[in-house]
Amino acid sequence: MTAPTPLIAGNWKMNGLAASIDEARLVAAGLGAGPARVAICPPATLIHRLGEALSASAVLVGAQDCHDQPAGAFTGDIAAEMLADAGARLVILGHSERRAGHGESDELVARKVVAALRARLEPIVCVGETLEQREAGGALAVVTGQVRGSLPRDLDGRAYSVAYEPVWAIGTGLTPTLAEIEEMHTAIRATLRERFGANGDNPAILYGGSVKPANAAEILHAAEVGGALVGGASLKAADFLGIVRGL
Ligand code: PEP
Repeated sequence: MTAPTPLIAGNWKMNGLAASIDEARLVAAGLGAGPARVAICPPATLIHRLGEALSASAVLVGAQDCHDQPAGAFTGDIAAEMLADAGARLVILGHSERRAGHGESDELVARKVVAALRARLEPIVCVGETLEQREAGGALAVVTGQVRGSLPRDLDGRAYSVAYEPVWAIGTGLTPTLAEIEEMHTAIRATLRERFGANGDNPAILYGGSVKPANAAEILHAAEVGGALVGGASLKAADFLGIVRGL
């Protein structure tokens, strides 16, 4: 089996105004011919402008969420087709901030994945346990359950990745041990194989949660880690490039 192409994706969350496009330009300018695909997922308001600014570069532009319907009376929501139309190539789905803050269930995330595929966006599907769930010994069951519930059969043979993001590691400076990351990524891979057979080997499994230049190399070289989803450290080009160079 050939290893999936690594992906390093920056999640700008609700950060970024027009001036932030310069930061993305610095990422594009500093990118060498490394082994990874690199993506920046800005707020929806910047997708089009970032797409134009980065069009001559290898940096892909992604979105952070989409609605499951292609159009309709959904005030404030954005369809996958609109994101693709604005220039997005990928979309983060099921981020824990959406699962917790917007009540997104596995079922809804799975419907959004179908919507993303319909619009030819490459989904990055997020899963991860809370601290309480880990301390209660339930992390593996919670995460593999999220993988089963959030990944519809439609993904079989399509391009996508799964991001393991322990909720307690996001934005906290805390990270699991390498052994814990490898244990979880191996369990996710086994669940993908159980669900999609040999095609379960294809998607990269990203790690996310307090990745920074200082810890990127060891995390990115851990077993079954196929890249990273990066929040805070993706906002500054120097930090983000430091992570990309960890591969
Ligand atoms: C995230 O929210 O996807 C994330 C990984 O955040 P941070 O890198 O800031 O922990």
